[in-house]
Amino acid sequence: MILLTNVTKEFDGKRKVRALAGVNLHIRKGEMVSLVGPSGSGKSTLLNLIGTLDQPSSGQIALDGQVLAGVADDELTRVRRDKIGFIFQFFNLLPSLSCLENVSLPLHLRGWNRKQIKERASELLDLVGLTQRKDHLPDELSGGERQRVAIARALSVYPPILLADEPTGNLDTHTGGEILALVRDLHERLGATVLMVTHDRAVAESCPRTVTLRDGLVVDDVSRR
Ligand code: ADP
Ligand code: MG
Repeated sequence: MILLTNVTKEFDGKRKVRALAGVNLHIRKGEMVSLVGPSGSGKSTLLNLIGTLDQPSSGQIALDGQVLAGVADDELTRVRRDKIGFIFQFFNLLPSLSCLENVSLPLHLRGWNRKQIKERASELLDLVGLTQRKDHLPDELSGGERQRVAIARALSVYPPILLADEPTGNLDTHTGGEILALVRDLHERLGATVLMVTHDRAVAESCPRTVTLRDGLVVDDVSRR
């Protein structure tokens, strides 16, 4: 589902930074993988490249058999919309929109009609246990509830790939545990392939596979069970 071959990424600033130094990684369909490593080791950069938000300096990325290099911008946008759900540490909800509207947004962008949008958005809020909060604004919710809205939004089109950058990093341990259980449940029920960055060792080890980055390279790749 996700295949990286010798992927490098350099950022040109005052000083050239080599964020990824030749990453090889193969994640099969339906896997749930945690991604760990010290701050600055390239985890977010890797997620952004897989999520087609940025492009590698060299090397190749393929998603679901489709090589991304040389693909036209509008096709990349389509891949991102149809295949990828993103969950970030800071929930990135729009403050002036209700929960239902936040979850509906990606569906509007895809041109769904009102009836379809209402049905899917309601179904998603139900899935994350927030039906009673659908008309609330993000400000009126707890951190855990906001993250659940963000997850519902990321899942709006049931993307086959779910990328999460420290989804529990901004939450207390208990709430983080609930969010993790939710991600795992969705992974199992929807069969999504999940790649999740985390600082939390227990969270990382609760996944069947853990990949460790250091200085822009995969230095460890452990499978359990
Ligand atoms: P992590 O998520 O593991 O903490 P990042 O992927 O965010 O690490 O960053 C890896 C390296 O790349 C760091 O040295 C960081 O400063 C650098 N970096 C990340 N994004 C940019 C950017 N947009 N411009 C310049 N340097 C960047
Ligand atoms: Mg990061």
